[in-house]
Amino acid sequence: MDVDDHAEELASDLGVDKAEVKQDLENLVQYSVPIEEAKQSVRRKHGGGSSGGSAPTSKDVGDVTTGDGNVTVSVRVLSVGTRTIRYQGEDQTIREGELADGTGRISYTAWQDFGFEPGDSLTVGNANVREWDGAPELNLGQSTTVAMSDEEVDVPYEVGGEADLIDIDPGDRGRVLDVQVLEVEQKTIDGRDGETTILSGVVGDETAKLPFTDWSPHPDIQPGASLRLSDVYVREFRGVPSVNLSEHTTVSELDADVEVAEEAPKMGVGEAVATGGMFDVEVVGSLLAVRDGSGLIERCPECGRVVQNGQCRSHGEVDAEDDMRVKAIIDDGSGTLTAVLDRELTERVYGDDMDAALDAAREAMDREVVADDIREEVVGREFRVRGNLSVDEYGANLDATEFAESDDDPAERARDALQRLVGTQGVEA
Ligand SMILES: [Zn+2]
Repeated sequence: MDVDDHAEELASDLGVDKAEVKQDLENLVQYSVPIEEAKQSVRRKHGGGSSGGSAPTSKDVGDVTTGDGNVTVSVRVLSVGTRTIRYQGEDQTIREGELADGTGRISYTAWQDFGFEPGDSLTVGNANVREWDGAPELNLGQSTTVAMSDEEVDVPYEVGGEADLIDIDPGDRGRVLDVQVLEVEQKTIDGRDGETTILSGVVGDETAKLPFTDWSPHPDIQPGASLRLSDVYVREFRGVPSVNLSEHTTVSELDADVEVAEEAPKMGVGEAVATGGMFDVEVVGSLLAVRDGSGLIERCPECGRVVQNGQCRSHGEVDAEDDMRVKAIIDDGSGTLTAVLDRELTERVYGDDMDAALDAAREAMDREVVADDIREEVVGREFRVRGNLSVDEYGANLDATEFAESDDDPAERARDALQRLVGTQGVEA
């Protein structure tokens, strides 16, 4: 709904002139007052009283905000995930997923089994709104009512939780994924109930590859197996989405093999960064600078962190080990990220191995000469970088698995750059 629709609704509720109501609403919205609060305020001005308070308000999903207390919504169930969590010392099985109507979609957590399934149309009464990750989420508890509706709620979204790997995001629950298992490894971890065996590895489909963890090892999880994973949830792990299987996940073998993309999805830097992190992605951009902390570096033998003057932040004075890396700023006009090259890729860029780099540093009595040589080699050139992109408070970092000079046509690149200049600055071409 836009301001005009809200004004229309309000005007008919209050029995006043729409133009006047709209003017008031627009004034408030212009000062960043949330639309619901603005409506309440206009209501009060026209003596309509408050529709808020503790009584739940019937709302469109798209209008639910974190400022709402309790709401009633008529929705379609998009997904239902089951998860057992430890709450106040007790194991409790909860249901989570997404609900939607024609105006939007919203996550929910149900603290009891209301018996609804993906595809059901419902009226959820007196659901508590809470904030989760900055967005409103519905909490369905003891005081919530759920009534099945015969009338199907139309939604512009996929019902059932099926998704391609490229489209899933941290926070997703109740997902159904068709994947091929690419790598799997058994691990023993110190869980909350003592030592536990879990599986971790990589799954793929035609669109992407992602890491996974199976907290309740399913025997069908074998390298090369094409499987349907029903009821998985998605978490962020080291800045990329990670697929999580639990004891509630069902794993079934598929008749046909799931094809896995050999190539990483190619994206603009801005687009890739906007995804919030990707396990395997390829970008092309100009290398603007080689950051400090590149070339010859020293790491703590205990934790692998980079150390300065032999001092690790966690382990104090350590016998540091030599290593090489490059942290390169890559820019394609749509965004910027830091490509991080490991020793192998760095040696290739440097044109010689680490022993040679150490010799050069000794000869110059300055370790920086190695980074300087690398700078001279790469700055200003254009590279194709493939790897795992993480986006967090430390910025956008692409852990490179491949790094090579771009073979894109330079003339075409120049035209693209000019096009961007025309687009952003209105320069006459
Ligand atoms: Zn350390």
